[in-house]
Amino acid sequence: MGRAGSAVATPQREGLAPPGYSSLDGEVPVLHAPRLEAKARDVQGYLAEGYTTLVGILSVEPPETVALLVPDEDWRDSPRENARPYPPGLPYFTRSVRPPALVLPEGLSPVFRPRTAATLPLAVWHELAHAFLLVREVVRTPAWLGEFVPQAASAAIARRSGFSLEDHLSRIEQKPGFTVRDFRGPAGARDQMSFQNLLLLLGAAALKEFGEGFLNRLFHALWEEDGIVDGERAEDLLAGALGPGGREWLASRAEF
Ligand SMILES: [Zn+2]
Repeated sequence: MGRAGSAVATPQREGLAPPGYSSLDGEVPVLHAPRLEAKARDVQGYLAEGYTTLVGILSVEPPETVALLVPDEDWRDSPRENARPYPPGLPYFTRSVRPPALVLPEGLSPVFRPRTAATLPLAVWHELAHAFLLVREVVRTPAWLGEFVPQAASAAIARRSGFSLEDHLSRIEQKPGFTVRDFRGPAGARDQMSFQNLLLLLGAAALKEFGEGFLNRLFHALWEEDGIVDGERAEDLLAGALGPGGREWLASRAEF
């Protein structure tokens, strides 16, 4: 789990976090408000597991990134791309600061469903996987493929670290009224969550069927792609990464 980190003031990385934040060391350091130390240690442990797993699966130079664990009162001042603050409780990855940062709220928004022991680690791993994907430039893809990647990667991290997702996956609504391919934004928070959950189900099922090697192939295929990835190309990329039988398997999945 988490390595023992030292709680020191952070004169370095100025401007990333408000003054007074503490830092926990690690491949992904966690900057946090002092009162969030216990949660910061949990997050540090999830990040350490996620980092090691993704480096192992992807055989790629890892991103330099930090995590900011932000209390409600500081949320409006968190680094971000846009001028307006993002909705509270929704983690995100931003390249608006150096190094790029995973911005994590002190508490996840109530739209995060289901609520199980896996909810927080999955949310942390999801943002970490975005950071890994953006180690190299990635062309635009349909939303379902862009979000499938971090969802499948999160499921792979859980799998490697012996973290059972069975309970979590069994609580997901399997028929929200759309599939990942016909989901269209902009959508409400509930539908967004259902969309992400379908991708998680699909990712976990793909790992079971094909093993984690497809993730390596999918990341690398996306990095090598230089044209626009339309719907058809996205399906080709995923089917190709899955390997023999991938296309037929995708066609058989209700989420797809
Ligand atoms: Zn995402």
